[in-house]
Amino acid sequence: MSRIADKIRHYHELLEPQGVQLVAVSKFHPAEAVSEAYAAGQRIFGESRVQELLAKQPQLPDDISWHFIGHLQTNKVRQLIGKVSLIESVDSEKLLDLIDKESLRAGIVTRVLLQVHVAQEETKTGFLPEEFLDYFRQRSFERLQATHLCGVMGMASNTDDTDRILADFAAIAQLRRQAVETAPDLRGFDTLSMGMSGDYQLAIREGATHVRIGTDIFGERTY
Ligand SMILES: *Cc1c(COP(=O)(O)O)cnc(C)c1O
Repeated sequence: MSRIADKIRHYHELLEPQGVQLVAVSKFHPAEAVSEAYAAGQRIFGESRVQELLAKQPQLPDDISWHFIGHLQTNKVRQLIGKVSLIESVDSEKLLDLIDKESLRAGIVTRVLLQVHVAQEETKTGFLPEEFLDYFRQRSFERLQATHLCGVMGMASNTDDTDRILADFAAIAQLRRQAVETAPDLRGFDTLSMGMSGDYQLAIREGATHVRIGTDIFGERTY
């Protein structure tokens, strides 16, 4: 039995009773590693680079749900549309509008999460809380024609301070709720993707519906 398969079974046993979905983050790991996880029953995989995702995808079964979780450059949007079941990392209104335009052009609906930035690090991307709330106050989502907003993705600060991490996850969860309160006609804005290898238990405490775990399943990445 492989280490990867053991890990997948471990997470399924842990998460299923809590109704939490596992996104196995396979970035920087080869298609063979994805195959091992797939054989153990995993169906949702997260990738952070368009070229890598497009290279791996044809080598693997087509009932995999691919989630895009990395910063998406505008010049890569067209290549990604139609290839993923969810883009979790929509970090600007400009990117959102482009995804919508390209989805319309391709004749499909793209499901996305809005990435919010609540962590302390400057390096992380995403909508700032006020920017995110303004988007719903101004009802800007009404102009989307081929994009379904499914919820929110976020990351906590990179720290050992448990209280800080919990506060960040609580803030992300609250933003999702505030969006729904601001725009009660918003349908299906239910997904709350937060928590990684080091902090997923805290994320689940704050209501995560999806956790994104890479290192603990596949091992360290060599960049
Ligand atoms: C890489 C990555 C993860 C996985 O992080 P691990 O610490 O390896 O579990 C989760 N979410 C995002 C957005 C990532 O880029």
